[in-house]
Amino acid sequence: MTIPGPWSRSARAALLLDDSGALSQTIFAEMTMLATEHGAINLGQGYPDEDGPSEVLDAARQAILDGVNQYPPGVGQPVLREAVAAHQRRFYDLEVDPEREVMVTAGATEALAATILALTEAGDEVVTFSPFYDSYAALIGLTGARHRTVPLRAPDFRPDHDELRAAVSDRTRIILINDPHNPTGSILDRETLQLVVELAQRHDAVIVTDEVYEHLVFDGGHRPIATLSGARERTVTISSGGKTFNTTGWKVGWLTAPAPLLQAILAVKQYLTYANAAPLQPAIAVGLGLPDSYFLGLTQTLRRRRDLLAQGLAAAGMQPFLPRAGYFVVADAASLGVSDAHEFCRSLPSRIGIAAVPLTAFVHPEDRAEVATLVRFAFCKRDDVIAEASARLLRLRD
Ligand code: PMP
Ligand code: GLN
Repeated sequence: MTIPGPWSRSARAALLLDDSGALSQTIFAEMTMLATEHGAINLGQGYPDEDGPSEVLDAARQAILDGVNQYPPGVGQPVLREAVAAHQRRFYDLEVDPEREVMVTAGATEALAATILALTEAGDEVVTFSPFYDSYAALIGLTGARHRTVPLRAPDFRPDHDELRAAVSDRTRIILINDPHNPTGSILDRETLQLVVELAQRHDAVIVTDEVYEHLVFDGGHRPIATLSGARERTVTISSGGKTFNTTGWKVGWLTAPAPLLQAILAVKQYLTYANAAPLQPAIAVGLGLPDSYFLGLTQTLRRRRDLLAQGLAAAGMQPFLPRAGYFVVADAASLGVSDAHEFCRSLPSRIGIAAVPLTAFVHPEDRAEVATLVRFAFCKRDDVIAEASARLLRLRD
């Protein structure tokens, strides 16, 4: 499809157009469409193929029956804001005021959108790691700000501290981190988090941290950057119920931030969605209060599935980089003779009945060469589905 008439410069900057000037769709939509067309196992878009805890699903049903079906408060229902505050205290010893420092959003995506739109403008810079979750570049582009990136390189996908220092300056308005990280499943170590805080302080930048995979850490726990000394007062912490409770389609997210920052973000958020998901908010509140056994079980199951899929990828002749967290394993397909991961991913559904996504979709066009042979596979799928996917992957050796 070509574009009828001129598009705004910000839409162009936001990469909403592809290289040929056509309307682009997200990599997840593209690969899910191909998976559906070919009846392939979808290891592309990250969503689980099992329902989450019955307590959460039952609470949503009950809320609908109880008539919780009209607009909730724009900032979110008190029961969920209180549950988020209790969750931050229970897991991280972080004190946040549920009335002034917690906001419910339409997924982490809206929290990111409202935050970036509220805080940045043309001329500002936003620093992220690269690869990055695709909506970051689009949102930064929409504000007209400049997106600067710091590479995370295989095999361990850790940032180089000098490169991080060089990327941050007085023009930096936001340092946006994603910890644990999509797509690589890496976790920022304490020294890197400390450096982010120091740089944000030195250059008076806001730290925005996307922690949607906070409960999917395989060894040890998650350490929110807001727990570091000097961070809390300049940090917006974003998360979502989607991954933690297998409810990606509910789009219930939230952010916590110091009250003045939260007010600025709320001013934008009220004109994006105003509010969403009234009966789902109390259900996610129930989820956040589930016993430790639920959260432990979640990571144990996912760790097993990570190992299963990594074995399948290795058996198929690729080199998997074992993630420390999240839903995804990145594998290098160079050993299969692949030189263009996007082309390779376009061919997979029809060739072997598997969908995956190329890392080239998570970097700026000029950085594609750095990740040209890397492919992301989701393992948030049932064991039997992963076993079948592994069997299909073996066909790559034919
Ligand atoms: N951030 C990251 C890093 C993600 O991977 C995702 C989606 N998987 C989101 C944000 C979006 O979360 P939500 O569906 O809650 O909007
Ligand atoms: N966050 C999901 C992933 O990384 C995709 C969400 C979407 O389809 N936009 O797979």
